[in-house]
Amino acid sequence: MTTAIVLLSAGLDSTVSLALAQEAGMTVLMGLCFDYGQRAAEAEWRQAQQLADHYQIPLQRIELPWLGAITKTALSKDSTEELPEVAIADLDSIIGITLNSAAKVWVPNRNGLLINIAGAFADAEGYTEILTGFNAEEAATFPDNTPQFAEAVSKSLAYSTQAQPKAKSYVQHLNKVEILREAVRLKVPVEKLWSCYTSGTYHCGRCESCSRLRRALTGGGHPEYLSQLFGDQDA
Ligand SMILES: [Zn+2]
Repeated sequence: MTTAIVLLSAGLDSTVSLALAQEAGMTVLMGLCFDYGQRAAEAEWRQAQQLADHYQIPLQRIELPWLGAITKTALSKDSTEELPEVAIADLDSIIGITLNSAAKVWVPNRNGLLINIAGAFADAEGYTEILTGFNAEEAATFPDNTPQFAEAVSKSLAYSTQAQPKAKSYVQHLNKVEILREAVRLKVPVEKLWSCYTSGTYHCGRCESCSRLRRALTGGGHPEYLSQLFGDQDA
């Protein structure tokens, strides 16, 4: 049996990766949700629990307070820096704007660390895959979202574990509109997702992640979710 553990942040990408993995016959036996001092930690945990219930996966919360303490960027809830706002029109301006935004929300070695923590669980339980939400759109600005990174970290895990799990994203080749299309096809509860860099009742609607989700909802022909995720501001 092929089994997996999923890094579940409650975002569109990791949730659809999970749904596609299940469709492909993967038995997902566990989810991890991380609190590393990010502004979104509270909302991500709240929504990830709902999604884990939906997919009937036990979910464990891992707290990494030291990672929050060494994170100096705006993503940290202790930061005095303002979160960068990226307009939808600027999302594809990789050199000028999104690289700047990426630098301002960087968390030191986050994906390398989270995959290796999941790798410890995988090694202990014999899981064969570590599911991530890496995708084509964010791979353009985040090197730790690329297929090359997934391959490299999998090679490393082949040395550092006995189970030799592979890091894999089922949405690696897709952009957000395509991921949303799969979400709708697979009846993912889109209203339960959390993609925002902050916490709250609704998504802030202004950070880069919100702009990407909003563009996907609008461009992908699913504006009906805007009011549920962003409140009344765009309803
Ligand atoms: Zn936001």
